[in-house]
Amino acid sequence: MDFRLTESQNMIIEMVKKFGELHITPNSLEWDNKQHFPLDVFKKLGDLGLAGVLVPEEYGGSGFSYLEYIKVIEQLASINPSIALSLAAHNSLCVGHILDFASEEQKKKYLPSLSSGVFLGSWALTEPNTGSDAMRMKCVAEKKNNGWVINGTKTWITNAASSNIIVLLARTGDLLDSKGITSFIIEKNNPGLKVGKKEDKLGMRSSETNELIFDNCFVKNEDIIGAEGEGFIQAMKVLDKGRISIAALSLGISKGAYTAALKYSKEREQFGKQINQFQAIAFKIADMAVMIESSELLLNKACYLLNNNQDFSLSSSIAKYYASESAVKISNEAVQIFGG
Ligand SMILES: Cc1cc2nc3c(=O)[nH]c(=O)nc-3n(C[C@H](O)[C@H](O)[C@H](O)COP(=O)(O)OP(=O)(O)OC[C@H]3O[C@@H](n4cnc5c(N)ncnc54)[C@H](O)[C@@H]3O)c2cc1C
Repeated sequence: MDFRLTESQNMIIEMVKKFGELHITPNSLEWDNKQHFPLDVFKKLGDLGLAGVLVPEEYGGSGFSYLEYIKVIEQLASINPSIALSLAAHNSLCVGHILDFASEEQKKKYLPSLSSGVFLGSWALTEPNTGSDAMRMKCVAEKKNNGWVINGTKTWITNAASSNIIVLLARTGDLLDSKGITSFIIEKNNPGLKVGKKEDKLGMRSSETNELIFDNCFVKNEDIIGAEGEGFIQAMKVLDKGRISIAALSLGISKGAYTAALKYSKEREQFGKQINQFQAIAFKIADMAVMIESSELLLNKACYLLNNNQDFSLSSSIAKYYASESAVKISNEAVQIFGG
């Protein structure tokens, strides 16, 4: 592996940094306090080509690989994790599912608007009673009049309130049958679909997370992604790739917290010296740097395997696990360095 940043990675880092300084950082605190998701910022990210990072140019995307995509998410997360999470859910989950499994006709219909940021996407798997155990989902799609009628509730859905397009996973077969789940593309203006309760989250407060309620929601046969019964396998593959974006998101959070804590430790003086001169603080900073380096190596390995068409499933899980655990530890240590 070559560890040097590519020209396009450097270009993306600079572009996102400048964008953040101008459009995000000045408003981050207010958005967080008000739990406001800035849809206009998502649209501007779309103007920069970041709403369809992995989508080939023929469908209106930027045609980048995961090498560039992880830098978009990492850099954005170091500035504002909420915006990065919303963009990652849009790119990795909704757009990623359509890109990897939809028909040519569906791709031509939806990807240009999703890639330009005209449309925001959601991906709906989780339900109130089924999180990790997604195969027991209760949201049901039943065949009727050349289409399907969907009933049930999805919860914890990122972008649900503002999105225009939803990729939905619903039960079409027997409970616990991995071939009993089908994925559908649903447009938000469907009269059988309502946005439900908004989650009052502890963190990532300006990424919106809501319930989606399906009440006799009718969709046509041609709204199925792939074939009936393929939804669960598709979802597992989408989540495999999604773990890489969550590892990048976590790495960005770690770098943002580390940079802020390091800067403060050089400015703050107690007992006549800068606090980074105390070993207790210096050890914290060293541990943070080691965790960041390790997270980045694991992320790069998973990304390298994916980009080279090798099995990346285990590596993406390890990268997500380590990088997200590290992000929590590093953020906690950063809070300690800031005192209070
Ligand atoms: C900010 C945010 C955004 C999200 N966005 C989306 C989205 O866009 N779309 C979507 O579909 N979902 C989304 N989710 C839902 C998310 O994917 C689920 O939270 C996740 O699948 C876990 O489900 P759960 O929260 O119901 O926890 P549970 O599955 O109920 O787990 C509860 C606890 O039990 C543990 N546990 C569960 N099973 C086992 C086991 N077999 N062995 C040991 N321990 C176990 C878990 O580790 C956890 O500690 C989002 C969640 C969050 C927090």
